Amino acid sequence: MVKSSVRVVCAHDCPDMCSLIADVEGGKIVRVQGDPDHPYTAGFACGKVNRDADLVNSPGRITTPLKRIGAKGAGQFAPITWDQALDEITATWKTIIAESGPLALLGYAYSAHQGLMNRGLVNGLFHALGTSRLQAGTVCDTCCEVAWDVTVGPVGGADPESVVHSDLVIAWGADLAATNVHFWALAEEQRKKRGVPIVVIDPRRTRSAKQADLYLPIRIGTDAALALGVMHILVRDKLADCDYIARHTLGFDRVEREILPKFPPARVAEITGLAVADIEKLAAMYGRAKAALIRLGEGMTRLIHGGQALRAVTLLPGVTGHYAVEGGGALLLTAASCDLNYAAIRKPSGPAATRNVNHLRLGEALLTMKEPPIRGLYISANNPAVTCPEVHKVRKGLARGDLFTVVHDPFLTDTAKYADIVLPAATYLETDDLYRAYGAYWMQWGREAAAPLGEARSNFDVAQALAKRMGLADRIFALSPQDAAKELFKGATGPAAAADPAKLFAGEPIHIAHAFEGQVFKTPSGKLEFYSEQLARQGVSPMPDWSEDPIEAADAKKWPLRLLTAPGYFQAHTAFSGVDFLRQREGKPFCVLHPKDAATRGVKAGDAVRLFNDRGEIGLMLQVSDEIQPGVVLVPGQRPIGEAVSGTINMLCSDRYTDMGEGATYQSTWLDVGPWRAA
Ligand code: SF4
Repeated sequence: MVKSSVRVVCAHDCPDMCSLIADVEGGKIVRVQGDPDHPYTAGFACGKVNRDADLVNSPGRITTPLKRIGAKGAGQFAPITWDQALDEITATWKTIIAESGPLALLGYAYSAHQGLMNRGLVNGLFHALGTSRLQAGTVCDTCCEVAWDVTVGPVGGADPESVVHSDLVIAWGADLAATNVHFWALAEEQRKKRGVPIVVIDPRRTRSAKQADLYLPIRIGTDAALALGVMHILVRDKLADCDYIARHTLGFDRVEREILPKFPPARVAEITGLAVADIEKLAAMYGRAKAALIRLGEGMTRLIHGGQALRAVTLLPGVTGHYAVEGGGALLLTAASCDLNYAAIRKPSGPAATRNVNHLRLGEALLTMKEPPIRGLYISANNPAVTCPEVHKVRKGLARGDLFTVVHDPFLTDTAKYADIVLPAATYLETDDLYRAYGAYWMQWGREAAAPLGEARSNFDVAQALAKRMGLADRIFALSPQDAAKELFKGATGPAAAADPAKLFAGEPIHIAHAFEGQVFKTPSGKLEFYSEQLARQGVSPMPDWSEDPIEAADAKKWPLRLLTAPGYFQAHTAFSGVDFLRQREGKPFCVLHPKDAATRGVKAGDAVRLFNDRGEIGLMLQVSDEIQPGVVLVPGQRPIGEAVSGTINMLCSDRYTDMGEGATYQSTWLDVGPWRAA
């Protein structure tokens, strides 16, 4: 049997973008593991992706195109040929466009495939057709991105590998041991070698928190207050770097005068639920450090005042001048510093502006959008029937008899069950693509390690096939993946632009970090903006602040528990549900209550429980642990509805927007839990 090892790149939605080695025997992928020759991957993949040979060979894979033969949502399909599927799709789209115009179509690829080509070209297809467009990322990271951009500017943050120069690491709202394992490994190494302390600030005593030198169990939604309290102490104790503030920041004087007096340690303790001594300790550690690196988590932004939270924490390194020091500063994302010509793939032609559909209000759009209503929907690499808030609305919209839905996915997901046509998708191990990390400074070409299973085809390939049948003449729809990838470098700037094509397409990892000269600020003032004129113009508080949201406060009076969501350790999202081993390790979809809350409700570990609020009810298994605080219910991971006792947590979450970036507010959800038999 012919054996080979192929260097590939992990396409899962994760900041690390690992380089992987796929072992192939007789044309079948038999093992996937971390690449020992990649400096950041350092020879290990996470526990989930170590099982990706099972994912790619899963008996649950779709292997032929399917046409619906039962009711929408029932999951009854019959196999058809690719020609039949593509003919039906394009004939229906042409009819819709002729009758209602291109805005009646909405198509998108989202984050379950991180490849720039496979994700980008599907979006390029719909851009060229002039359809309605998805305002993507609102279910995930638009709030934190906007908060970062108005504060620091559209530019990447600290290089995670600079942690070798750090003298303090703070994981603020990020369970690094689960979601950023390579950064965590580097930080732990620095702790072992040089005694660099690790602080974890998180409402949940996560795996990372259990190993921290200092753990602060902060109350959900109070991160801004803690950051402002730390600033208050830094100023009080003369630990602020006045020279840095004067040269590189804007508006600190107003924040010092108008905001910081509101956040003395005693009040911050009251708001955050932390001890005054711990707040003082954190501020002293931070103020005395020379190169403190804050790893910002996105979770703190998935609530109504999420933007203010991230902004306040992001401003901290400006008070101490840590942004000027290698190993210091803050890291949210890095992708903004990879200046490729993305438009070549994502926007080959088509109108510059069109009608936008906010991802988190997809259900609302499907049900209420007029002139024209959405009549055709195409989804790849996304499962909105589980992952969007107000899932009831999404499902009701998908069930519309007059909506023509196509889903391109490796698996028959909850969303695919509503489709008229389901197309079998190749996984990342079965297609060529170019990747750039969003949490590190690496770029890499990933090769197809094995031919797609059955008749599966890549997102890139199908976008080209559909474009051809729709009569689109843009060159990009006729290029090979490698030639299309070369288009990304035309007009590119910075270290990514200097990549040697021979090395790149041979699969060598390309380091794309700029030489360190201090954090660059790309705000309108060119400085770190404590005062943001952009926010003032939008009617949002231009200075970092914390206040209780009145709707949250009213909900809190009505419902005793607050929702905390987090990635599941073995089922981060539904993309891993095709792997039996991981599903079993994670167990049936569950929630976690503090022992006191479980006792009050007469429920115990292993019981099925009912989670409910004004939006409805769902059923999950119960775990009981003091890793979360009283008054909180933790629901890890996004899981297919069929695996749960009943429903999915997003049925209980509203589609209200965050303060910045129109993002999702999952953690502004209040609810209660009771025995399942009471349902
Ligand atoms: S750590 Fe992230 S990038 Fe690396 S293998 Fe796991 S999911 Fe993929």
